Amino acid sequence: MVAMYENLSELLDSVPRHTRSWFKTLANRPVRATASSDQLRETLGGPLPEEGTTPSAVIEALATAGATGTIASAGPRYFGFVVGGTLPAALAADWLVSTWDQNAGIFALSPLASTIEQITGSWLREIAGLPSTMSFGFVTGGHMANFTSLACARHSVLRKAGWDVEANGLFGAPPVEVFVNEESHYTIFIALRLLGLGANRVRKIPADDQGRMRADLLAAALRETSGPSIVCAQAGNVNTGAFDPLPAIADAAKQRGAWLHVDGAFGLWASASPQHAHLVRGIERADSIASDAHKWLNVPYDCGLIFCADEAAHRSAMSLAAAYIVATSTERDPHEFVPEESRRARAIPVYAALRSLGRRGLAEMIERNCRQARRFGEALRAAGFDVLNDVVLNQVLASFGTPEQTQATIAAIQQDGTCWCGGTVWKGRTAMRISVSNWSTTDEDVERSIEAIIRCGTRHPGI
Ligand SMILES: *Cc1c(COP(=O)(O)O)cnc(C)c1O
Repeated sequence: MVAMYENLSELLDSVPRHTRSWFKTLANRPVRATASSDQLRETLGGPLPEEGTTPSAVIEALATAGATGTIASAGPRYFGFVVGGTLPAALAADWLVSTWDQNAGIFALSPLASTIEQITGSWLREIAGLPSTMSFGFVTGGHMANFTSLACARHSVLRKAGWDVEANGLFGAPPVEVFVNEESHYTIFIALRLLGLGANRVRKIPADDQGRMRADLLAAALRETSGPSIVCAQAGNVNTGAFDPLPAIADAAKQRGAWLHVDGAFGLWASASPQHAHLVRGIERADSIASDAHKWLNVPYDCGLIFCADEAAHRSAMSLAAAYIVATSTERDPHEFVPEESRRARAIPVYAALRSLGRRGLAEMIERNCRQARRFGEALRAAGFDVLNDVVLNQVLASFGTPEQTQATIAAIQQDGTCWCGGTVWKGRTAMRISVSNWSTTDEDVERSIEAIIRCGTRHPGI
């Protein structure tokens, strides 16, 4: 008979031990997983056990598997996708969140979670230079932030056309025109699909060589149509890091009475840096904004952010309560701004991250990563490779010759293990994508990684 309730404090005391050994190896272990899925299945799988195991044995088994089955994506030399690690204060706060096990859906279930969410949301607005009247919500990620934003948009443009989409759905509704940057992140299209707006009936506005939506072509397209319209722009292209020309896009959208949504999953954080804030200028005129905290703010998964200029539309699109109902309490019920009801207190790690960094620390983190990205670009160019984008933020696209040579270089760097970079195709060219988004990446990490990439890139003939 297994004792289900062994000493809790002894069990929890084992966690810092596992955590310490994880962090001790994180910076120097191979970035890739060293165990195969077959090996993991062998140690963790098998039939559902009939009898229980002691919690400490369960945690021991997980910690052992974690050492070999994970990717060191939280580490300083992981440059794949756009990921980010975990700031110490955010990690520790996240442990508290799990310990407290608060349902952050409503104030009545957690005054602390609700109040911290209120404080954190207003700090975030301040960082991004957004109007203090913008409502906000904490969702699971950028995808859900796009979804929530576009639900607000759908509500608002149809309401103006005399249609209550929450009550009546889209059957018989006036058609909604959606204008997107042709380089929009794919989650925009999934969000549109989930909202019944269709992924394929959008009007794709051409982008320039950096992936920036052509504002002149958007204005022309908007002039050709009338009726309810939504424009989806982006701040931070997932390949190049480029920003759409938001002031001109906002002019065109406002002139036409269209809803302006901006996907700023990682790009919104440029606003925290005095050197880069000009890139995001105009975002304060958006009707809705999607962003992520689990990428560049370096909080643990999962946490996305949605901001909305029309609080009534935001509540109407998300809340189960009747539209525009006068709240009986002045306290914040976080579920009214997101698609979920019961939910994790996601704002708490964000609060911890912001409080531990301060305004200056956040600016330094963003600027450091941008400087490191520029260093990657300069060093790879100096070594004779092609850098395909203007390195304006934290993203670098490099080509190592033919598509095959670039693919071989990406495979080689992943195998080498010094650092991890993924691949992409940009304007028809196969490229290595380097995203510098981790708070703990040092300049020495960057130099080591550059050396490894150049070594892998020059191993192939014909360069
Ligand atoms: C990552 C990303 C998303 C999706 O965010 P998730 O947090 O992965 O859901 C959307 N848009 C852009 C530009 C992104 O970089």
